[in-house]
Amino acid sequence: MRVAVMALQGAFIEHEQVLKRLGVETFEVRQLADWQQHKDALILPGGESTVQMRLLSQLALHGPVREAILNGLPVFGTCAGMILLSEGRLATMDIRVRRNAYGRQLGSFHTEGQVVGLGDHIPMTFIRAPYIEEILSSRSEILAEVNGHIVAARQGNQLVTSFHPELDPDLRLHRYFLQMVA
Ligand code: GLN
Repeated sequence: MRVAVMALQGAFIEHEQVLKRLGVETFEVRQLADWQQHKDALILPGGESTVQMRLLSQLALHGPVREAILNGLPVFGTCAGMILLSEGRLATMDIRVRRNAYGRQLGSFHTEGQVVGLGDHIPMTFIRAPYIEEILSSRSEILAEVNGHIVAARQGNQLVTSFHPELDPDLRLHRYFLQMVA
C-alpha cells in the first residue's frame, strides 16, 4: 500500500511518521508530477486551508485531486484538510464547515472522546480548529461530537476530523483509515 501525503504546507511530516509506524509506505505530493505516481490513498494534513487552497490551484492540483476523490480514492483530511474537502472548496464531501470555530483564545485544546466504531478515550488535539456546522446529505455520517459540535465524519471513501490524530500516540484513527483503503 502506498499513501500520498499532500506536502504543500502544514503538518504533513507527522502523518508520514504515523504511517511509517504502521508499516505503510508514503510519498509527498509537492507538485503535479508527484501526484501522477501510483497511490492507494491520500492524506490532506492540517495547516492553513486558505494557503493550501491557493497552492492547489496554482500547482494545477485542484482538478486532478478532486476528480480522484470523486472517483473513489480514499482520503483522510485532518483540520485544514477537512476544510479543503467541504462545501465551497474541493466540495467532494457534503459538509459545511466553520473555520476557526472555537475563536482565537479557545481554538486550541485537548480532550478525549468517543468515535463511532473506534471506542472511547480517543485523544483529540484541536488547533485553531474548525467543526462541521452541518451535514448536507445522508451520504455523510457523523463519527464524533464534542460539546455538541461534529468533529469527525465519514462519507464513503472520505474521512475527516477537526482534530489532529497524527499529533497523539493513539493509532486508531489512522488504522481505521487504512481499513477503508484495504
Ligand atoms: N485554522 C486553520 C484553517 O482555517 C486550520 C487549523 C489547522 O489545520 N490546525 O485553515
